[in-house]
Parts: sequence; structure tokens; C-alpha cells
Amino acid sequence: MGVQWLLVCHGLVTLLVLVSFLCGQWPIFDGTPIQRINHFLHFGICDYFQRFVGFVFGAKGTNAIQSVEYFCCDRPNPILQVLYLAIIGGTYYLVATSSFRYIPGYYIGEVHRYISFFAVGVGVLLFLLTSLSDPGTVKSDNVSVYLSAYPYDNVIYSEKECSTCKILKPARSKHCSICGRCVARFDHHCGWMNNCIGERNIHYFMAFLLWHTLLCIYGAVAIGLILAGQVKEFRVIDILTVYYGVQNSFVSLSPHVIQWLVGAYNTQILLMMFLAIVALLIAGFFGYHAKLCLTNTTTNETFKWQDYINWQRKLSEARASSAALKASINGLTNERKPPESKWRTIFRRSPLEDVEVVVKNNIYDKGFFLNVLEIIFPLSRRRLYANTKLKSG
Ligand SMILES: [Zn+2]
Ligand SMILES: [Zn+2]
Repeated sequence: MGVQWLLVCHGLVTLLVLVSFLCGQWPIFDGTPIQRINHFLHFGICDYFQRFVGFVFGAKGTNAIQSVEYFCCDRPNPILQVLYLAIIGGTYYLVATSSFRYIPGYYIGEVHRYISFFAVGVGVLLFLLTSLSDPGTVKSDNVSVYLSAYPYDNVIYSEKECSTCKILKPARSKHCSICGRCVARFDHHCGWMNNCIGERNIHYFMAFLLWHTLLCIYGAVAIGLILAGQVKEFRVIDILTVYYGVQNSFVSLSPHVIQWLVGAYNTQILLMMFLAIVALLIAGFFGYHAKLCLTNTTTNETFKWQDYINWQRKLSEARASSAALKASINGLTNERKPPESKWRTIFRRSPLEDVEVVVKNNIYDKGFFLNVLEIIFPLSRRRLYANTKLKSG
């Protein structure tokens, strides 16, 4: 099989895994192999590994796996933080040792040696800021500020006390069982950051995601420019044109050029593909969070809204079936109703309907501009600032 076909197969498999990993839970993929791959990637791998260890080492092995799982997933730990630093440091080291010798190149200037170092430095700085900053820990001495920041909507949030912290839970807060604290405007607990993402550090987190998306795109494009420069400097197109005697166009020669690049610069090509895939993954994650930020919703709230919508649906279904039962008892429905069309059922359960319910009930959504402002300048910080000004005034 030709190298170009191997590359095409590699690309298709990567795309399938990516789409399955990111979108496999969408209703449109119900019952398809994409959904099964998604389930395998999210749960199957761990399950099979646990079964394999249990089969080889018995109960001791399973217990060891469970305690490792408890330490890694249910307790604060720096494993993923160290892994992040190893990945970014390792990737930068590989790029520097394999590709910096071609800088300056035909399409890339000397300055990129320094820009790349600066870009990685900013990335690590944003990582440290997100990891080490307070996500908005709710304590007895600051609970009043957080209580005044967001009102209870009495739909997904009502006045309640945290059973662990023994303080009132402000609206939009959640008790993080991993960190053992209540966090204001709780989004999720991020294992990579070993920290919660909440009201006070969501802006660092979003900047981290955006910066790393751009960083990976920059890395992939820069390596692409280095390789294009090599093709130009070695006059590869001219040589191949003479050798194969084909028309001097990049399209007809591209399989041969790719073959030459894969042979001579395989490390750079692997790095470029790695960076492109990571860029896609982080961009998807950033897009998801940006959509949430623009509608002033949190990841935690999407689960709460889903529960609320499911509950409402069950309630209306129960009402409908009790009405139907009543009607059939009264002998009002002599004729059988035709079964509901499959398409109608799909549209009736359309996620658009769910979005409408959330939009109608989400009192925290104040429009694009104010929502973004709230991410950049947290409400509680503004309240604290106003309070101190009042006191000093
Ligand atoms: Zn709590
Ligand atoms: Zn946490």
C-alpha cells in the first residue's frame, strides 16, 4: 500500500476516534458504532483493564486498582498536573531539538525561536494561575458576598444548607466532594488543574483553553512552514518533476512530496499531526465552554437543567397517560389513535426544545455583553470592592 493511502487511513481512523470521543453521545449517533466507540473510550477501556487485572492478579489486583482509582479520581492529587507539564515540556523539547535547526528557513524567521518560547511560557503561566487561584471558596466569613451575588431561581437552586460545610449554599454554588469545600458558581472539578473551576478562576481557565488551542495551531503551522521551506530549499518539486516527468504542479506531485517528507522528516510530521489533533480537542472543549459562558450557564448547571427537563417530561407524560386512561374508562375513545410518527417523536424530543426550556428559565443569562463581563470581572469581586469602598467612604 502506498504511503499516501496509509496517511489517508491514518487520518480517517483519527477522525473517527475524535468524532466518537467528542460527539458520540449526541442523539443522532444513538445505536451507531460511533456511540459504541464513545462508550468504549469513556468507560470500556477502564472496565476491561480492571477485569484483566482481576483475572491475572485476583481480588488483590482489583483492590489495588480501586485504591489507585480512588486516589487518582476522588482525591486531590497532582498526577495530571505533572503530566501536563511533562507533555508541554516534552513537546517543546522535541520541537526545539528536531526543528529549530531549520530556523531561519525560507518561510519562517529567526524570531520564532523566541516567540515559541514566550508562547509556551504564557501557556504554563495560565496553567499555574488556573491551578493555584481560589475558584471562589465559600466560607462563613464570605458567604454573604456570594449570597448577594446571585439570587435563588427556585427552579434549580433554592435556599439550602451544605450538609458538610454547615453554611448556606449560595445559588450556583456546589460542594466539591474531591476538594471538600463549597465553590461559588461551580463549573466542574478539573483534574488537570487539580482545582475546581468556579466564579473566581473561570476567566483563567478560558484563557488557558484559548491560548493552548492557538499554541497548538501555531506549532503545527510553524512546523508546516519549516517543511515547506525545506521542500523549496532542496528544489524538491523541480527534482521530482524531472525524475517522474510529470506536469510541474503541486497537485500531481503531492503524493511524491509527501512520501519524501515522511521519509526525511518523520519526527516533524508526527509532531505536526499531534499538535493538530490536540488543537482540535482543546478547540472543541473551548467552544463548549465559550457557549456556556455566553449563555451564563455552568457545566454543573447543564446537568441540573437536564434533570429538571427530564422531570418535567416525566410529569407531562404521567399527566397525559392518566388523561388517556380516564378517557378510555369513560368510553370516549372508541377509535384507536394512529401511532405517533417516528419523526414526530424525534422532533418532540428534540434538544431544541430543551434549549428553549433553559433559555426561558435561566435568570442568570443577562445577555452577551454582561455575561462576558461577569466572566472577566466576577460579581462577588465587584461586590467586595463596592463594600470596601462604602466602608472607607
Ligand atoms: Zn460544602
Ligand atoms: Zn474541586
